[in-house]
Amino acid sequence: MTLPIARDWYGLQSAEERIWCLTEPHVHPIFSANTFLVLGRDADLVIDAGMGIAPLRPLIDGIRPDRGKPLWLFVTHTHVDHIGAAHEFDTRLVHPLEVGGLANPEPYSLDAGDISPAFRQLFLDAGYPPLWPMLIDAVPRSGYDPAGYELRPAPATGTLEDGDTVDLGDWQAEVIHMPGHSPGQIGLWHEGSGTLFGADAIYDGPLIYDGPGMRIEDYAETFRRLRKLPVKTVYGGHDPAFGRQRFHEIIGDHLALWA
Ligand SMILES: [Zn+2]
Ligand SMILES: [Zn+2]
Repeated sequence: MTLPIARDWYGLQSAEERIWCLTEPHVHPIFSANTFLVLGRDADLVIDAGMGIAPLRPLIDGIRPDRGKPLWLFVTHTHVDHIGAAHEFDTRLVHPLEVGGLANPEPYSLDAGDISPAFRQLFLDAGYPPLWPMLIDAVPRSGYDPAGYELRPAPATGTLEDGDTVDLGDWQAEVIHMPGHSPGQIGLWHEGSGTLFGADAIYDGPLIYDGPGMRIEDYAETFRRLRKLPVKTVYGGHDPAFGRQRFHEIIGDHLALWA
């Protein structure tokens, strides 16, 4: 099968002043995650690192006004769609429970035929469209061989736990441990603006809570905790941003479903 060459691999939007969102529109919706860049006074922060199909770092560096500042990668959890380009960053922060997933990522293939029937069913049941033959519908450059895709080890250089602060000098956010979708998933809560970086705990699309390493009891506890926050804006791990009303709808619907 010959796939077309994408004009741009990443989609890029300015979410708000100092926050950018990068997407991978040529990756199947199940694996098409958001990467965020938050520009700070003393350091810049990247949240998640996509599939790693095309280099991410040059695009990030192209946006940063000052490349001399430290650049930290905050890894919400170590599913394939969030860690692909992690090795391109020198500072990699993750929760202790996900350290192994960065150091020894499970091999992954872009050939959808390598996805087990159980997973296919799980994705369909969750509400995603059927998989394509490949997890991508284009290639990032001529000569790119999807069969050569591999996740590179990118061991954590530091760990973050619940209650820790990520401090960019003029922007501070609290680390929130959000188990359920993955044991060591972490998000970021920026109280000053009411902004939650919700990772794969909460986004405006089909949530995945039924697979390996997932626990509905933990997920429900995470949601009960998140809903106490005075959230105004959510930047999720997938799909577009949403506001307070949708945040409460998603949480309420799932807590009712799981009860
Ligand atoms: Zn994801
Ligand atoms: Zn995930």
